[in-house]
Amino acid sequence: MRPHLRDLPIPQLPAALADAGLERPAWWAQTLAVRMHRHGATSWEDLEIGRRTRTLLEARFRFGPLLEHVGERVAEDKTRKDLWRLGSGEIIETVLLRNKVGRTLCLSSQAGCGLGCTFCATGRIGLMRNMTAGEITESIVRTQDVSGHRVSDIVFMGQGEPLQNYDAVMTASGNVNHEHGMCLSRKRITVSTVGLIPQIRRFTEEERIWRLHLSLHSAIQETREQLMPIAKSNPLPELLDAMRAFQQRSGRRWITFQYVAIPGVNMDSAHIDALERELAGINYILNVIPWNETGVGYRAPTWAEVKRFTTALRRLECPVKIRYSGGKQEGMGCGQLSAEQVEVAASGGHLLAPPGIFTS
Ligand code: SAH
Ligand code: SF4
Repeated sequence: MRPHLRDLPIPQLPAALADAGLERPAWWAQTLAVRMHRHGATSWEDLEIGRRTRTLLEARFRFGPLLEHVGERVAEDKTRKDLWRLGSGEIIETVLLRNKVGRTLCLSSQAGCGLGCTFCATGRIGLMRNMTAGEITESIVRTQDVSGHRVSDIVFMGQGEPLQNYDAVMTASGNVNHEHGMCLSRKRITVSTVGLIPQIRRFTEEERIWRLHLSLHSAIQETREQLMPIAKSNPLPELLDAMRAFQQRSGRRWITFQYVAIPGVNMDSAHIDALERELAGINYILNVIPWNETGVGYRAPTWAEVKRFTTALRRLECPVKIRYSGGKQEGMGCGQLSAEQVEVAASGGHLLAPPGIFTS
């Protein structure tokens, strides 16, 4: 099958366009990249090119929309979730959150996720397929289009484990960062991983410049295994070694560990002791995410429990942040993505839209 123009890394566009027979391929590469990634072109017509150029391009490449907008929901706090159907029928989500300086888009990298973390709704539906680089970047420009807001930051914290779809996520991030792409600073691109050691090492060796957050959730191996089955084959000591190597090689002063706080599982003093012991010598920020309800037998912490926990964490002498999950009452919070997907499957492919909530 001909490659889709949006799937190509921008640095490879000039050679690909020269091969297709275009004169001035470098100029065309810049023009097409800007139109696709910055202006949000999703059809040949949107690219505004002459007939001869289009004929040459069409002989080698596909172009056109990769996603269909099938639903949107806006929460009381203005967080919005959009549902997108991929060409092969699966539905993925984007969540747009307002922050102090702009708007952060929480992106999916896979339809579903195959890693089955016991506290995560996405993990329950299993992996349907990896998204392509083009689908990922289109989900950004299309969200900008339907919301009327420019995205200032992207985080791979929607459906899926981004490091399991390594190449597509790296290509998409590169195009988002590229001066002829979306031109977003590398500091505004964050990849979150459950902790896949070989891929963290690869990320480090390839000197990838995006932020990398580790979903730690516990510094006790048994608890990690209970929460994340993949922890069995990615044991804590080697995982922390890989993160230390990443910090050293990338020259980052701080790295971020995410910690989903679940009462009765990982908020007691034994877990705080383990953090103190295992993370000694690492300069880290602890990002505490109060667990969001996904109906799987855990209990969401009360605000008082979260405060007690973060107060107890003071003895670690590391910066502690509490993540506010936008729209969690409306099912848009961290780990809640995919609820609709289950409904879609149960209804034989039709989206069951709660009346009055979805508007398209
Ligand atoms: N697969 C990647 C990125 C997607 S999940 C990862 O696991 O890191 C993004 C973040 O949401 C992760 O830190 C994940 O642990 C967290 N998360 C998953 N389910 C959650 C829930 N129910 N409540 C709060 N955070 C959750
Ligand atoms: Fe997948 Fe991340 Fe959810 Fe685990 S927490 S199931 S890795 S999306």
